[in-house]
Amino acid sequence: MRRYHRKDWLKFREEVIELDGGACVRCGSSRRQGAILQVHHKEYLSGKLPWEYPYELCETLCRGCHAGEHGIVQPFTGWECVGYDDLGEPSGECELCGTSIRHVFFVRHAKWPSLEVGEICCDHLTDTTLASNHMDSVRRFEAR
Ligand SMILES: [Zn+2]
Ligand SMILES: [Zn+2]
Ligand SMILES: [Zn+2]
Repeated sequence: MRRYHRKDWLKFREEVIELDGGACVRCGSSRRQGAILQVHHKEYLSGKLPWEYPYELCETLCRGCHAGEHGIVQPFTGWECVGYDDLGEPSGECELCGTSIRHVFFVRHAKWPSLEVGEICCDHLTDTTLASNHMDSVRRFEAR
């Protein structure tokens, strides 16, 4: 499985938010007001990872406006796992179920915001065993 660097995504996300003045481009809510800001990709580029997009195709939205953009029902199919990262300690959080995770899988969808999830949620979303197979081999390697 392809390795990605979570910090590249975090850095890109912060850059987009900064370019938009640290606020949602639709309703103007800022972090200071307690808004959770996310990056929306205006188009889906299949060959590009979410942090490789040109800035003009990205915009900052608060969680509420972002949900309005995509609808409320998360798609069950069509998810693709594009990489994983080992944070070295459980400092991440699965964006689907909220558990602490050390091994982060990055999943994306043409019509839904990308998510960083744990092994089990990755298997669920992609309807494959890619993530658990990957973790099996990591655990085997660590057990040696
Ligand atoms: Zn907003
Ligand atoms: Zn979006
Ligand atoms: Zn999860």
